[in-house]
Amino acid sequence: MKKLLLTGGGHSHLFVLEALIRQPRPDLDITLLTRDVLAPYSGMLPGLVAGAYSREEMHIDLAPLCLAAGVRLVHDTATELDLAKRRLYTDQLALDFDLLSLDIGSSPKLSAVPGAADAACGVKPIDGFIRRLQQLDARPEPEQIVVAGGGAAGVELALALALRYPAKHISLISRSSLLKRHPARAAHLARQALQAAGVSLREGEAITVVSTDRLQLASGSELAFDSLFWASGSTAQAWPQAAGLACDAAGFVEVDATLRSTSHPCVFAGGDIASQIGHIHDKAGVYAVRHGAILMHNLLAAVDGQPLLHYTPQSSYLSLLVSGPQRAIGVYKGFSFAGTWVWKLKDHIDRGFMRRFQR
Ligand SMILES: Cc1cc2nc3c(=O)[nH]c(=O)nc-3n(C[C@H](O)[C@H](O)[C@H](O)COP(=O)(O)OP(=O)(O)OC[C@H]3O[C@@H](n4cnc5c(N)ncnc54)[C@H](O)[C@@H]3O)c2cc1C
Repeated sequence: MKKLLLTGGGHSHLFVLEALIRQPRPDLDITLLTRDVLAPYSGMLPGLVAGAYSREEMHIDLAPLCLAAGVRLVHDTATELDLAKRRLYTDQLALDFDLLSLDIGSSPKLSAVPGAADAACGVKPIDGFIRRLQQLDARPEPEQIVVAGGGAAGVELALALALRYPAKHISLISRSSLLKRHPARAAHLARQALQAAGVSLREGEAITVVSTDRLQLASGSELAFDSLFWASGSTAQAWPQAAGLACDAAGFVEVDATLRSTSHPCVFAGGDIASQIGHIHDKAGVYAVRHGAILMHNLLAAVDGQPLLHYTPQSSYLSLLVSGPQRAIGVYKGFSFAGTWVWKLKDHIDRGFMRRFQR
């Protein structure tokens, strides 16, 4: 029996599981290896921080999905890959495969600044970030919280933290101009929201060194903090590249238009960990979701010796950022807009996504 090993319970693999529930493959030995059995949905994280969602509402339990899909669930973390033996290792286990599919996401790049890895808490892995919030919840006194990263995630988190902790002082530091990949009007709307929320914004200021309780900026000024959250850059786990898989300059697995590794045909990848040659785009859940259907088809087609489908990333997508209590900023095809109705739209989309997979 051919062995298909799905590694990582990310967005793309949710669609693989859903398709297997609709059309089971008892002729295959399918395993999902995942670090989190309760998979967090990052789109709802700012809402959770702001108090709009419970922890249960933003997690998907992979156990009932696997059960319904006839997939064995292994709760562990992949640490090493042997491509010659077609074997994936965790600290406890060795798992053999004929076909491997990777959907293990990415994390903020704490290694970019000396000291950040020791002093800062990355926004991913999300459960570690939520644990840090729970520690902060127990400290009602005024404190300095700094968020590093002026992209969508940093802006959303700074605003959500300001809502959660009205007694604390929140600063947002952006190395470049705020939301530089978004239209100027979206950045303007975000600046307005940050100002209304009392968040101190430092734009065009690079963090150069971080120590336990303060950080230095390229301008020479220093900023003290009690908590530092890192939402800047994205980095890949080291073991896929260490195994010899072709990867891009940042260590993300290089795939062709079929989401198949350009170096090892027995490996596919979807979501943030996949870097499709010829297509540079943001690491965003919308791509991971689109990868899902293609990945599902191509994994089974590869097993069955059938033709593979090609994936072309969409050139633009609807981007929705939580910007206040029941408010959000939206960007679509160069247009930016904000309001309560944008929050309602985001809430509707996110809850719909969760309903699809929560059992
Ligand atoms: C605050 C915030 C808000 C965001 N909001 C949005 C948004 O609104 N819209 C949007 O499109 N994008 C958003 N993003 C980006 C989005 O989070 C990612 O692009 C998306 O989660 C990528 O999905 P994925 O399937 O690649 O990986 P993930 O969703 O990160 O899932 C990967 C899973 O793999 C598992 N895993 C990881 N390593 C291993 C291992 N070694 N072994 C086994 N299992 C492993 C983990 O359990 C993890 O759950 C946001 C990001 C942040 C930080």
